[in-house]
Amino acid sequence: MTRDRTSTRVIAIDGPAASGKSSTAARLARRLGWAHLDSGALYRALTLAAVDRFGESPRSWSPAALVALAEELPVRLVLLGDEFQPEVAGVDVEAAIRDTRVTRHVSAVAALPEVRAWVNARQREAVRAHGGGVVVDGRDIGTVVFPDAPLKIFLVADPGERARRRLAQRGEAVDAAELARESALLAARDEADSTRAVAPLRPAPDAVPLDTTDLSLEQQVERIAALARERFPG
Ligand code: C5P
Repeated sequence: MTRDRTSTRVIAIDGPAASGKSSTAARLARRLGWAHLDSGALYRALTLAAVDRFGESPRSWSPAALVALAEELPVRLVLLGDEFQPEVAGVDVEAAIRDTRVTRHVSAVAALPEVRAWVNARQREAVRAHGGGVVVDGRDIGTVVFPDAPLKIFLVADPGERARRRLAQRGEAVDAAELARESALLAARDEADSTRAVAPLRPAPDAVPLDTTDLSLEQQVERIAALARERFPG
């Protein structure tokens, strides 16, 4: 029996750090009347919980202890309106997970297969329980988490432009030294995410590549919404 792919109402948006995935996915979801799930938020929430519980030496964190911690607190996604929000022990951590002490360690946590299996199960559960369309963004959504998604987008953008956007988003001055520093941090995270053994960052063979370097957020959303109208008729 052939499986009807349009029964998976998921749009997968993958790409490197600061390529505009989450803002594009959130706006696209609103446009379509779908929900939005930022998978990076779950990796970040678990990293925040680990830093708070075990301190900042990730080499000493055991994968089993991390998963046990996630279950105990719990670390989870809660649907608020049309956004899945990360929570740790019942507290909304959407702002806290953007802290540099989380960003510094999140790729190490996300490289652990046990952690990835736990996060993937939570994402699939959230989408199943929601029952409607969900735009999911991350690094492995089209390749691993929802390989049946009828529409997969792989966003890319010039590293200098990504660094500029990240600084502008934080309201920080965009001078040459800051740009160079931010570019180096993004490059290190991309390198870690692309070269890890499990679920490395790469486009699914059937992903549509979209270079956003010269596109506005509105243009990116419009391009993907046009594809969504084709792939999800009616
Ligand atoms: O998207 P964001 O930058 O918030 O993701 C934080 C980190 O979480 C990434 O650098 C990556 O290590 C990890 N991640 C992942 N797979 C995903 C989403 C995020 O490995 N699907």
